[in-house]
Amino acid sequence: MITQLTDSIWRYHDETGSTSYLVVGKTRAAMIDCGGAGKPVMPWIRSMTDLPVILLLTHAHPDHYGSAAEFDEVWLHEDDISALPVFEEAFSVMGVKPLDRKTLHSFADDHVFDLGGETLIACALKGHTPGSVVFVDEAQRCIFSGDAVGSGDIVLMSVPLAYNLSDYMHSLEEFLERIEPWADYTWHAGHYHQAGRGEGVPPNTPCRALAADMVSLCGALLAGEIQGESVREIFAPSGKARRARLGRAGIVFSDEQCK
Ligand SMILES: [Zn+2]
Repeated sequence: MITQLTDSIWRYHDETGSTSYLVVGKTRAAMIDCGGAGKPVMPWIRSMTDLPVILLLTHAHPDHYGSAAEFDEVWLHEDDISALPVFEEAFSVMGVKPLDRKTLHSFADDHVFDLGGETLIACALKGHTPGSVVFVDEAQRCIFSGDAVGSGDIVLMSVPLAYNLSDYMHSLEEFLERIEPWADYTWHAGHYHQAGRGEGVPPNTPCRALAADMVSLCGALLAGEIQGESVREIFAPSGKARRARLGRAGIVFSDEQCK
């Protein structure tokens, strides 16, 4: 399903539940993630713009790069490039083709992608993966957040190489300071449907307040003030994890990460 969000931003939501975004500048366009279905996305991108298009990945989970083979230039944070072999093995059940290393480029924290009249700033929010970033679009006053704080339901931390709770909390605190100038921006998440809370209830779309609640949630879990409920989680090392909520924030983590 494709939805136009602004004059220059389109949202692409595929049947696997992954959400990607096309941002069109004056000199080039950027696709932010490209779904998990592996279906062709270039035909509809080409129906929107003739400009050169690059693929920017919020992180290296295969449900966000299913159609990467269609792009000549793919960008991923350096810390997730080194994590790729682990993810490719752990998530092989998804059946997504590995990223082609020949088209893959790395970026570091705060790298700026210039699209002409519009820039995307890669702002670190590590934890869900070692190289998770959000992309900040100052011209459109929005933030593309991938899975870094989840999409309104939970952030999934019981996956290989995810941070433990104290490191994630520290990462969130640094991020909250960093995004002070962008505090009122609209956020667009990596599985946007998860924000839905049913008929008549406003969606729990990620935002600065959700990230702040996530800090409080990590703190309460570390202090033992909240225990969370047991859930089964296929990517957790033991197959078991815990789910907990506080305010707008939710998390799934394994016992070994509660430190
Ligand atoms: Zn992910």
